[in-house]
Amino acid sequence: MTAATGIGWDSHRLVAGRPLILGGVTIPHDRGLDGHSDADVLTHAVIDALLGAAGLGDIGGHFPDTDERWAGADSIALLRTVVGLVRERGLAVAHVDSTVVMERPKLAPHREAIRASLADALGVAVEHVNVKASTGEGMGFVGRGEGVAALAAATLARGVAVEHVNVKASTGEGMGFVGRGEGVAALAAATLARG
Ligand code: MG
Repeated sequence: MTAATGIGWDSHRLVAGRPLILGGVTIPHDRGLDGHSDADVLTHAVIDALLGAAGLGDIGGHFPDTDERWAGADSIALLRTVVGLVRERGLAVAHVDSTVVMERPKLAPHREAIRASLADALGVAVEHVNVKASTGEGMGFVGRGEGVAALAAATLARGVAVEHVNVKASTGEGMGFVGRGEGVAALAAATLARG
């Protein structure tokens, strides 16, 4: 199996009057993350990890924060778009690991919901997505509660791209068992390469 790994990092400021959305899950809190999109810092880190593993640049290149199309964007929808780009290149998501660095609130009560949300968008079983929680131990912008950061690592495996599968049709031209309508036949050829 050919595998590729990518990393992702993101941070957003915590402000009043915004929802706190992590991995597509809205978490009850007195403040939320500020940004051009829904500012889902965890999903942004996962997107960058996928783009990195696929050699496709970064989130800012695909969804610029100067583009009104992405104002208030649902980051899970952006993640689904990126998963599609990855698949078009014959790559399959094998595993995603992540860490949310946040002083409060506690992530633990929401961890399984976040895993399920990310797994659904990634098109993988929930055991192939991991979400860890860490704090700033009172230090830096995380520790002072000014913002939240997230890290992610994605592993992609080379699968089969749709352009590498072909389906043709033929008839019996009235001859033989197919031509007489007695049956249907199919032929397939597969090429395997030693990796
Ligand atoms: Mg971001």
